[in-house]
Amino acid sequence: MKKIIVAIDGYSSSGKSTMAKDLAKRIGYLYVDSGAMYRAVTLYALRHGLADAERGVDVDNLLRVLPDIEISFMLAPDGSQHTLLNGEDVEKEIRLMEVSDMVSPISVIPEVRHRLTALQQSYGVNKGIVMDGRDIGTTVFPDAEMKVFVEASPEIRARRRVDELLAKGENVAYEDVYRNVCERDRIDTTRKESPLRKADDARVLNNDTLTREEQMQWMLDLFNTIVSDETAD
Ligand code: C5P
Repeated sequence: MKKIIVAIDGYSSSGKSTMAKDLAKRIGYLYVDSGAMYRAVTLYALRHGLADAERGVDVDNLLRVLPDIEISFMLAPDGSQHTLLNGEDVEKEIRLMEVSDMVSPISVIPEVRHRLTALQQSYGVNKGIVMDGRDIGTTVFPDAEMKVFVEASPEIRARRRVDELLAKGENVAYEDVYRNVCERDRIDTTRKESPLRKADDARVLNNDTLTREEQMQWMLDLFNTIVSDETAD
């Protein structure tokens, strides 16, 4: 059967990573979390004193060290995907609130985007990939055969994120997470370079009231329709 590229974009904590992961597993495709790559660059910047909440981002020095930042993925024994920063497993650390607070200001830097976009495109050369992010259907894979844009209200997204972080043992307040979600939406949608927006040919999925299984079925139905159309061509 012909392999395609699946691009899933949407707002912070809209549940797109869970959907993308579920779909990739079900159809036997590679899954790539592009947000994890922006988070890994942010973690590097935080660790090297190149970004902090008060002073913002030291763009000049970050650009100087950008070629030293190597990002890759590995499959853990339990089947989950872990992000590696210069060979170190940083999967847990990149999800911390201090990284979430700095990731959008770092993601606006064009040179950071160009480097990560090229890496993301290299993963898709043989197709058979599901990638989620903010600009996958618009910039990374504008010719992707399947594009989905995921929406959910900020309140529901913040609540989901709080539950996720609490389950991981990180003690967070709903108000802080809600503020972070709204602030990331603002920066992601208004930045100059590849802002978050729905691609014209993307299908919208609002998952405010859908269960994980219902979303999976919606995705699978769309995937099967597109693949059978592609195969018939
Ligand atoms: O998907 P996640 O919420 O982990 O992404 C973290 C941040 O990385 C986003 O808020 C956004 O600023 C940035 N990002 C991006 N482009 C992508 C994926 C993520 O700018 N394709």
